[in-house]
Amino acid sequence: MIHSKSEAAFAEAKNYIPGGVNSPVRSFRSVGGVPPIVASGKGSKIYDIDGNEYIDYVLSYGPLLMGHVPDCVTEAIKAAAEKGTSYGAPTLAETELAKLVCRLVPSMDMVRMVNSGTEATMSALRLARAYTGRDCIVKFVGCYHGHHDSLLVKAGSGATTLGVPDSPGVPKAVAETTITIPFNDIPALEKVFAERGNEIAAVITEPTPGNMGLVLPNEGFLEALRAITKKYGALLICDEVMSGFRSAQGGSQSLYDIDPDITCLGKVIGGGLPVAAYGGRKEIMQVVAPAGPMYQAGTLSGNPLAMAAGIAALTYMEENKVCEKIESMTAILTGGLERAAAAAGVPVQIHRLGSMFTVFFSDKPVTDFDSACACDLEAFKIYFHSMLEQGIYLPPSQFETNFVSLAHSPEDIQKTIDCAAKAFAEVAAARK
Ligand SMILES: *Cc1c(COP(=O)(O)O)cnc(C)c1O
Repeated sequence: MIHSKSEAAFAEAKNYIPGGVNSPVRSFRSVGGVPPIVASGKGSKIYDIDGNEYIDYVLSYGPLLMGHVPDCVTEAIKAAAEKGTSYGAPTLAETELAKLVCRLVPSMDMVRMVNSGTEATMSALRLARAYTGRDCIVKFVGCYHGHHDSLLVKAGSGATTLGVPDSPGVPKAVAETTITIPFNDIPALEKVFAERGNEIAAVITEPTPGNMGLVLPNEGFLEALRAITKKYGALLICDEVMSGFRSAQGGSQSLYDIDPDITCLGKVIGGGLPVAAYGGRKEIMQVVAPAGPMYQAGTLSGNPLAMAAGIAALTYMEENKVCEKIESMTAILTGGLERAAAAAGVPVQIHRLGSMFTVFFSDKPVTDFDSACACDLEAFKIYFHSMLEQGIYLPPSQFETNFVSLAHSPEDIQKTIDCAAKAFAEVAAARK
């Protein structure tokens, strides 16, 4: 593959944009090399400015449930754009998307639209603090909830990749209100509540963490979390920005049958445009301004283009049973990857949930941040670059989740498995 145009364009970008990117993981920092500069996408594929074609498992880090440029969403965006891109005044589309979201995620009676997952979790924390009158937040090590101060403490995703779990610029006083404990660790949870239970406003978690790679909750963990937060009067915030409409149509809370107080959504909810949301029980959401005193606002929040894209994407998803269809395709893929790794003699742990999956290069179970960090990152790099050169575009980090879309065909899946067989063989050869 030739990448000369991408190389030149990326060098130019670095002169004007920090690291050449508008979000760190895109830079390929952890795997090395130059990222392809994307020219366009269609269906399961993206095309770079050198004319190379890739089957895409990044899908904008999750949002593109139907793949690139699905007609249903594109037509809705076009129609909305013709009528006006923003008013700063109420529209019917906002209520329509809110109703749709509350129906799809039954723990949400009311919802507020924002523009990014970061804004959703930031607002959810403020709401939990306002509602309980308490300051402390508990989060799990390796869970990523966006880049605002309170939650950029032992965060996963790009922060993990870069090896800066705590960012400079986060005030100590803010970080001190965030208590971090390992995921899947019930004794640690019990200890924290026994010591500081009456100071804790909320526990925020990804119910099925996807930002240290995809990690699943042990049996009973989420139930214990729900029970202990209830007992101490703390709120449970489920951050389903990634897992919402991905792990299942009703999100991971539907799969594990937990009833959070507040849910954060993002990614798929906007059909590829910048939308996120937080919502929950009416009594809690009534604290949000102007219904209540907790201030939160947004000039472009609920803007007509984004609402149109979200309505179109979620409606299509529900009417066509998209989540179920992609799940079975994803299972075929991960089954094939498991067999390919075994044939090459490369030990891996492959986790899958709905249309999300991660190949961990480890011979031990991965259940939390420490066990994710024990993976063989050199093996991942070899695998990643081999796949890229064969036209398979994976997230450029061991600590990200891979996504499948409705547009991925059986041929795409088979080609990916065949390419992975070669990539695993290269990993095995490098280990000799
Ligand atoms: C992506 C993500 C966020 C942040 O969303 P942005 O839109 O990138 O701000 C928050 N929480 C989780 C679980 C995510 O995966």
